[in-house]
Amino acid sequence: MKKFKWILLFIVACISTDALALEFSPYLLQKLNRIYEIKTQGRTPVAIFDLDETVINTDQRMLLSTLAALPDMASRYPQEVQLTSQVTIADFRALENSYSVEELLQGLGVTNGRFIQELAERRLNIYLSPEYVSADTSIHCANHWVRALFDLGTKVYFVSSRYLSLQGQETVNSLFQNGFIRESDDFAVLLRPDGMGSIEFKRASFQYITDRLGPAHAPDAEVAFVFENEPENINAMVEYFPLADAFFIPGAFVQDEPLKSSIVRLPTESYCQ
Ligand SMILES: [Mg+2]
Repeated sequence: MKKFKWILLFIVACISTDALALEFSPYLLQKLNRIYEIKTQGRTPVAIFDLDETVINTDQRMLLSTLAALPDMASRYPQEVQLTSQVTIADFRALENSYSVEELLQGLGVTNGRFIQELAERRLNIYLSPEYVSADTSIHCANHWVRALFDLGTKVYFVSSRYLSLQGQETVNSLFQNGFIRESDDFAVLLRPDGMGSIEFKRASFQYITDRLGPAHAPDAEVAFVFENEPENINAMVEYFPLADAFFIPGAFVQDEPLKSSIVRLPTESYCQ
């Protein structure tokens, strides 16, 4: 037990004062020992993060996309558009699944199925465009958690199903602006090529990362942590990286499915105490 405490103190001393001031949850702080262990073995620790609703809060982009979709629908659905235009950021935060148009509109008293379907399609097209990416923010403390990992010598992969052609530049700008990355960091941003399915892209990315860890019998690097908000994606990550601690951030998903038993649910407010 004494040795454990010493290791923890050593790690705490290595993290920048900025990050410490925010007080990571004791659970995550303990997990940093894994980074230390991998480094003492002479290997590079690796962490993999999804972006939207894993470390990036896109509620504001979703709200702006919803509002921007309404004017073209106003003549055909006057009552529904009037009700939907009253949506606020607080409405998104109250949802069980913040990606669900049905759940959002139910709360606003809108039940017209055709309207809901058309709004969902129009909103998604705007949401996936470059238009409002700059409105994204860090999930509370997630940027400081990522910075702590960089400070300890971790290589970080950001793997997101955002399309490279539509949001590539805006995504990198947003990671800089929200304090996730600096020029000198060891990071890579992997985004989806046009025409590729989301899970196919994620699996291809996990294989790409696996191929870069070094020879299987003596890898130069080890994936310590993986973070995701989509059940399908985190389940795939556990397959590719069985030794990593896998964290699932609940609250927004495109497709639900049961989580594999080794995965830890980490509510968004849990990056810090
Ligand atoms: Mg996501």
